[in-house]
Amino acid sequence: MKIIMLGAPGAGKGTQAKKIAEKYEIPHISTGDIFRANIKNNTELGKKAKAYMDQGLLVPDELTLELIMDRFEQPDCKNGYVLDGFPRTIPQAEALTKALSENSEKIDFAVNVEVPDESIVERMSGRRACLNCGGTYHIIFNPSKKEGICDKCSSELVLREDDKPETVSKRLKVYHDQTQPLIDYYRGQNVLREVDGTKEVSEVFDGIINILEA
Ligand code: ADP
Ligand code: ADP
Ligand code: ZN
Repeated sequence: MKIIMLGAPGAGKGTQAKKIAEKYEIPHISTGDIFRANIKNNTELGKKAKAYMDQGLLVPDELTLELIMDRFEQPDCKNGYVLDGFPRTIPQAEALTKALSENSEKIDFAVNVEVPDESIVERMSGRRACLNCGGTYHIIFNPSKKEGICDKCSSELVLREDDKPETVSKRLKVYHDQTQPLIDYYRGQNVLREVDGTKEVSEVFDGIINILEA
């Protein structure tokens, strides 16, 4: 099964993608996590990506595509994957469609997690991230067992630089300008499905399962 998670930054794509990946035993591929791992390890790619990410801008398509196409080559992708944060622009979506069609493959579902902008700032300012394992928490809605410490790997949790309110409004604008058009793109491919992302994590997940197993 090949699934794309669509939605604004902070809508809960990553939270749901991890649950889908676990249930269906497919990899969760987050371009944001891959970029952050590169930044942490001080790679050339990381250095380039950081300059854009810190400003709330998208990393250029060329860099992003190189990275993701490499990832698709990994053996764990053979039974599908859940994509979180990719594609984020029409050219990225077109490149994905083309790469898949060369192997006579296609995306099964693009799940749009709908959350209004008003709720996004609250979600992002309370988000705490583990830069070691990609775990995400929320200080109110999904707290870690021990404050400031990742449940899974015991690393320290951080408020991401780009989750500060100044950058969040910029990211929302970038989302509306560059990523939201993907909703129509995938509607046109008859794979778009929508869920109400304002509900509790488990209810959103139930909604997604219903879609995937319909
Ligand atoms: P969120 O989960 O809040 O939506 P991500 O972790 O997906 O954030 O992305 C963080 C940042 O990484 C983005 O603001 C952008 O700079 C960069 N990024 C991630 N995925 C992509 C992509 N597909 N294309 C371009 N930039 C990306
Ligand atoms: P995205 O990957 O779309 O940027 P995340 O999955 O990282 O979003 O979620 C953003 C923040 O909101 C995190 O702190 C997460 O714990 C929290 N969150 C996710 N889903 C929900 C939900 N349904 N209700 C309340 N908070 C949520
Ligand atoms: Zn962790």
